Amino acid sequence: MKTVVIIGGGITGLSAMYELKKWKITNKTDVRLILLEASEQLGGKICTVKQDDFVMEAGADSIVARKMETMSVIEELGLENEVVYNTTGRSFIYSDGELKPIPDETVFGIPTSIESLAKSTLVSAEGKVEALKDFYTKNETFTKNDSVGAFLEHFLGTELVEKQIAPVLSGVYSGKLSDLTIASTLPYLIDYKETYGSIIKGFEANKEKFKGGERKFLSFKNGLGSLIDAYESQLDETEIFKNTKVDKIEKAGSRYHLILNNQEIIEADFVMLSIPHTAAEGLIDDPELRSEFSNLKNSSLISVYLGFEVPDTILPADGTGFITANTDELSCNACTWTSRKWEHTSASGNLLVRLFYKSSHPAFASLKEMSKDDLLETALKDIYKSLGISAQPVASEITNWAGQMPNYLISHPKSVEALEGKIAADYPGIILAGCSYYGVGIPDCIENGIESARKIVELF
Ligand code: FAD
Repeated sequence: MKTVVIIGGGITGLSAMYELKKWKITNKTDVRLILLEASEQLGGKICTVKQDDFVMEAGADSIVARKMETMSVIEELGLENEVVYNTTGRSFIYSDGELKPIPDETVFGIPTSIESLAKSTLVSAEGKVEALKDFYTKNETFTKNDSVGAFLEHFLGTELVEKQIAPVLSGVYSGKLSDLTIASTLPYLIDYKETYGSIIKGFEANKEKFKGGERKFLSFKNGLGSLIDAYESQLDETEIFKNTKVDKIEKAGSRYHLILNNQEIIEADFVMLSIPHTAAEGLIDDPELRSEFSNLKNSSLISVYLGFEVPDTILPADGTGFITANTDELSCNACTWTSRKWEHTSASGNLLVRLFYKSSHPAFASLKEMSKDDLLETALKDIYKSLGISAQPVASEITNWAGQMPNYLISHPKSVEALEGKIAADYPGIILAGCSYYGVGIPDCIENGIESARKIVELF
C-alpha cells in the first residue's frame, strides 16, 4: 500500500488532505493518508482564542468574500449558517497627533475625483496643487515593472503619496512602495494614465469596479477556527498526528524516510510540504536546495489584542480602525477596532481592539526583544495616545509571528520556479504547497491545497 504524508496541518495541508480523502473514498483506493502537525492543534496561522466575552484571532481574521470557490468549500463543510460578515465603516489615518478620516471616493488612498482630493484633511493646500500635475503630465518612461511608489509620486506628488496613499497601500501589499512594482500591486495604473491621461480620471471612469459592496469579508460566529474544526471532523479515513514535528527527510530508494521529533520513522511514497519555507529548508540535507529556499523572503508581525470594559460607542461614529502615517508618532502600524468591525467578537458590546506591529516599523527592532508585559505596556501607550483610552484591559492576547509573513518580492515567481525545478529533478514525489509559495490569502491556500492533492493523485 502506498503512503502519502502531508507535513503541516495549516489550512493548506487540511484542504489537501480533505481532497485526498474524497479521492480515496470515491475511488476505493488502497492508500495510507497521514497528516503530521508539529503543534498541539491544527490550523497554523488560523487560530481563534476566546477570553471572557471576546473572540480574538491570533492570526488571520477573515476571508475575502468575493472568491466564490471559497463559498462552495464553506457549504461543503456545512458552515454556511455560521457565516458572519464585517460591518463596513470609515478608516482613519493617525497623523500629526490626530485621527483623520481617509477621504470618501478614494481607492487605496488614491483620490477618484478632484472633489475627494480637495476635501482631504490629510494633505496641505500645496500638496493638493502638486497632485494636480496628474492632469497635465504624460507618462513617457514608466512601465509595469517600475516601482509603484516612484510612479505615484511622479504624477501625484510626494505629499499625497506619503500622507494618504502610502499608509494604505503599503499596508495592503506589505512593503515599501519603492520596493513594490506596479505589476504586482495596481497594474491598471499604467493603462489609466495612457487611456484617460490621468490616474485620478482613470479611477473616476472605473469607479463601479471598486465598489466593494456591503459584505467584503467573512468569518464565522465562533471565529475562523470553525473552518479548521470542520475540516478536522471530516478527516476520517486519514491519520492525524499532532505534537508531531518532522525533523528530517531522507531519501530511501524511491521512497522517503521521515524522521520525527520522537525519533520514530515514517516511510512515505509521496510527501507534501505544506509548512513555511523557513521550516522546510532545514528538512533535507542538501546545500543546493537550501540555497534555493533562501531566495524566498519573509517578514515579521506582532499582533496585540486588548479588550476593555468600556462600550465601543466611545470611538468615532462608524469608524473601524486606523493606519499610522508617521512611524515616529506610534509604535504600531495599524489598529483595527475589532468589536466595531465584527459584532461576533464582543458579545457584551465592549471594546476590543487589535494592534499590528510590523517589522517594517523602525520601533520593531526593540519590540521583537520585549517580554509580553512590555509589549502590553507599549500597546496601551499607543491606545492612550491615539484613542485617549486609559482603562486597563480585561482581556489581552499577544502573538509574535516572527519570520512568518511571506514577502512576495519581484523575484518571487522566479525563485519558486527554480525551487520547483530542483525538487522535481532530485526529489520526485515531494511537492511544495502553501503560503510561502502560491499566495497568502486563505482562499489561495485552500485552492492550492486542492491543486497539490490532485498533483499527488496524478503521480499515483
Ligand atoms: P501555516 O498556517 O503556516 O501552517 C503550517 C503548519 O505547519 C503549522 O500548523 C505549523 O505548526 C506546521 N509545521 C511547521 N513545521 C513543521 C514540521 N517540521 N513538522 C510538522 N508540522 C510543521 N489571510 C487571509 O486570507 N485573511 C486574513 O485576514 C489574514 N490575516 C493574517 C494575519 C496574520 C497575523 C497572519 C500570520 C496571516 C494572515 N493571513 C490572512 C494569511 C493566512 O492566514 C496564511 O497565509 C494561511 O493561513 C497559511 O496557511 P498554510 O497552511 O499555508 O501555512
